[in-house]
Amino acid sequence: MKENKIRLKFKGSKHHRLLAFLLIIPMAFALSACGSSTSEKDSKESTIELYNMDTHMTVTAYGENADKALEKVREEVNRIDKLLSTGLEESEVYKINSGAADALSEDTYKLLDKSLQLYKDTDGAFNIAVYPIMEAWGFTTKNYKVPDDETIARLLTLATPDDILFNRDEHKIAFAKEGMKIDFGGIAKGYTSARIMEIFKECGVKSGKVNLGGNVQTLGTKTDGSKWRIAIQSPDKGDEYAGVLEVADKAIITSGGYERFFEENGVTYHHIIDPKTGKPAKSGLQSVTIVSDDGTLADGLSTSLFIMGKDKSVEFWKKHKDEFQFVLLTDDNKLVASEGLKGSLTSDRYEVEFVSAK
Ligand code: AMP
Ligand code: MG
Repeated sequence: MKENKIRLKFKGSKHHRLLAFLLIIPMAFALSACGSSTSEKDSKESTIELYNMDTHMTVTAYGENADKALEKVREEVNRIDKLLSTGLEESEVYKINSGAADALSEDTYKLLDKSLQLYKDTDGAFNIAVYPIMEAWGFTTKNYKVPDDETIARLLTLATPDDILFNRDEHKIAFAKEGMKIDFGGIAKGYTSARIMEIFKECGVKSGKVNLGGNVQTLGTKTDGSKWRIAIQSPDKGDEYAGVLEVADKAIITSGGYERFFEENGVTYHHIIDPKTGKPAKSGLQSVTIVSDDGTLADGLSTSLFIMGKDKSVEFWKKHKDEFQFVLLTDDNKLVASEGLKGSLTSDRYEVEFVSAK
């Protein structure tokens, strides 16, 4: 029987048989070459370290296109940093703040649009116009000082995003009041991590991760198909994490008062400003972690929920629960998380309470 089959397959002239043989051999080799090495190629890891946006960044990509993708990432992160840096005279944000901006770049247009939307959605918590107040506290130069109440009151009159005149048709921006300034520091890292994921996809990378100073975004799963394990940093920056999240294809972005702060007369002042008071937000939280498909949104919301505090954050999440999940570390050392993270969030250090949407 076997012989018959073989004979049937190679039925034909001697010449045909030889041709079939010659075709089959390289095909068999080609299959084994792809088959055996594809998984090796897919799991080949490449990493680059960058220092941009005042932040140490680690970018990792897997697969045969990883190196090419990482070179593009390096260029893109540099480009975004130069565009958004508040202190760099050539930057677009510097030009906006000194009234010398031309038509906005696509990046700044998108960030402005998103920031003004967040200002509305978060009832004013997310406010890119607090920059003059950041300057008064010395967070922009590291010459820290506590401004007097009169200065804060005066600068609060400039922290009014409704006075940002955004001409969407002509891609132009102007301020209605002299002295207004903006800063995308509360959203820029998430925007950057989201751009990195886009570059990965454009280059055919299916698995990768970026860590921008504790803010993480992941593409796909790990190469073995399992989820990424992402640690939430502890406020004391110790070795023991506040918690661990198991995720795929998500941004995990944290805001905490411990990230940048100074002390004066035994009081700690941090860098997240409550636009209602002009002072560092005191809302009963040590940190906020947002988990979302959208890196830019996650970053904007981590800053916003930190200012809102627990009760407002929970109410806000109930209205937007399809867009993100959250983990709050409260001043009394508890983790409060949205129910969508059940099965994903664990902590060896803190008790975890899950909040339901009802
Ligand atoms: P993040 O670490 O994402 O919470 O961002 C903190 C940074 O956002 C600060 O260093 C400021 O540049 C900026 N920022 C501070 N307060 C606010 C606020 N209320 N709304 C928007 N951005 C803010
Ligand atoms: Mg943020």
